[in-house]
Amino acid sequence: MPDVATTTKPRCPCCGQIHRLARCFYVFPELAPEDFKEREHIRAKVKEALLDPKLLKEVESLRRRRGSN
Ligand SMILES: [Zn+2]
Repeated sequence: MPDVATTTKPRCPCCGQIHRLARCFYVFPELAPEDFKEREHIRAKVKEALLDPKLLKEVESLRRRRGSN
């Protein structure tokens, strides 16, 4: 059993996969490579996660940061 405290990987709060929220292809489809294929159940999960206003705010601030310039 790996030590969770020392091996924490960034888990996306939207889709639950291992990456930062800022790197989520579901949240930021413009980052996705051409061969990226969405999974319907993950897309649904992301949609549900974004009903959380706190998370939505985080996504919006990331998007804004990216969008400027
Ligand atoms: Zn994600």
